Amino acid sequence: MHYDNHSHIILASIESMVAAAKKTQVSRLSVTEHISQFTFARQAVKFGSVHESGRMFSSFDDYLKEFEKVRNIDGVQVRRGLEVDYIRDFKSEIHDAVSMKKWDVLLCSIHELRGGIDLEEKKLPQDKKSAEERWREYIEIQKEALKSDFIPFDVLTHPERLAVGTPTVPEDLEELMVELAKVAKEHGKALELNGADLSRTPDLVRKVASACGRTRCKVSYGSDSHYPDQVSRNFDLAIGLIEKYQIEVI
Ligand SMILES: [Zn+2]
Ligand SMILES: [Zn+2]
Repeated sequence: MHYDNHSHIILASIESMVAAAKKTQVSRLSVTEHISQFTFARQAVKFGSVHESGRMFSSFDDYLKEFEKVRNIDGVQVRRGLEVDYIRDFKSEIHDAVSMKKWDVLLCSIHELRGGIDLEEKKLPQDKKSAEERWREYIEIQKEALKSDFIPFDVLTHPERLAVGTPTVPEDLEELMVELAKVAKEHGKALELNGADLSRTPDLVRKVASACGRTRCKVSYGSDSHYPDQVSRNFDLAIGLIEKYQIEVI
């Protein structure tokens, strides 16, 4: 069972992504485009973090048409999904947009802090106190998203992504992750072991896995791939963590 639950098609074609999945023995690939890549969503929601380049979709129908191109690929089940931002001020707009269609899988992501500050912003104050406060705020927003019913999502993605812009982490980050995993478990959500972050910050992804092991929270593996050669990246590392901490995978 080799599932990759997180991938994108704004920089590479869906055919090339599914072909890469087949080549790397992925039996189920979820294509989960960012809600911010849809023009109508950008008009309704003020996103603090968006892709500057890459394909924009004019409608969900425009996006869903892509899946017809890979309907008959043997050996790879392709799921129709979205990666959806949780933004407190735009919960209802985002809910209304996402509920226009039925989805096989929904990922929930935090890409911005309060006030629309991009999570990956590298120019924020990096002294220990500021960094620590930012991490606590980030974890709180993620808990809020897990408790929210703004969309019926399955997975909270990359729960340690803040490290891209704020590399200094609190000493008790593992405990904070345990608190997050408890909330996820309570609400029937999985936390993601993210393939991109397994390259950048493997020790922080390990903390996510360990927290899930301690709380019996489920995990989801997602490569977060934008190009074919990233499909199922670091899957071996994720499986190593899943076995080490004996976690249930979705
Ligand atoms: Zn993301
Ligand atoms: Zn993504």
